[in-house]
Amino acid sequence: MKNAQSKGIVPTMIDDAAQAKVKTYPLRRGISVLEGSGGNIAVLTGKDGKLLIDSGFTVSKVRIVEALDNLSADPITQLINTHWHVDHTDGNAWIHSAGATIRAHENTKKHLSTSTRVEGWQYTFPPSPAGALPTTIFNEEHHLHHNDTSIALKYYGPAHTDSDISVVFEEADVIHVGDTLWNGIYPFIDYSTGGSIDGMICATERNLSMVTDKTIVIPGHGPVGNKATLAEFRDMLTTIRNNVAVLKKQGKSLDETIAARPTAPHDAKWGQFLITPAFFVTLVYSGV
Ligand SMILES: [Zn+2]
Repeated sequence: MKNAQSKGIVPTMIDDAAQAKVKTYPLRRGISVLEGSGGNIAVLTGKDGKLLIDSGFTVSKVRIVEALDNLSADPITQLINTHWHVDHTDGNAWIHSAGATIRAHENTKKHLSTSTRVEGWQYTFPPSPAGALPTTIFNEEHHLHHNDTSIALKYYGPAHTDSDISVVFEEADVIHVGDTLWNGIYPFIDYSTGGSIDGMICATERNLSMVTDKTIVIPGHGPVGNKATLAEFRDMLTTIRNNVAVLKKQGKSLDETIAARPTAPHDAKWGQFLITPAFFVTLVYSGV
């Protein structure tokens, strides 16, 4: 991770996924989380076949397949993308080839269908192959029943990107919130495709309104959490947003704002991953 800035964030993420073990965390009611290939992958096993949320990086395919085989012998039949980013969709093509129908917000399909630049990553993604594209898309919400589980997909509106959705396993009381939550690490915010700090805060408030103390919350990155995790994330985002807004209003440049260290009390806990304190201040500064 240390050389992420020099090597570039996307190559760093791919190299990490190429080396990382894929760890399995069983939750409840047939739902598990696989961690180690880009964003957290949720799996629901059962007689209708495996349903996956997000597809990780293709470089991890062998280790993802091994982890899935260890869960059950069911084939993969469904894939949901929480948003369009590569660390959540790069494996779409092989998972589709394995037999899965892909569901996502319409903007996920839009961004995967064309060449898309993410300025914050200094990276331009080519169009994805046809097999990687979602074929069942929606705008506001979408529901399905799979493995005796009611599954609700809901659009956040612009948040981390303009394609983010929540996925709720209703009977299990488990929610995958995609990259609207990074547990214990500063989040990336993709202004190039419609994200903003205020959108992230809005999505976090909405997540808080959708859960109880018993809900299991799967973040896009970091360990599985709960309602308290969301509250702590919301408090961190709003505090830093306000600190940066005050400095910007005083006329401070981006460099002066970074030098004032408006994230300082949070850095030991949140600043230890790809998104450094200076980079996170840059992302917040763009949106206030
Ligand atoms: Zn993302």
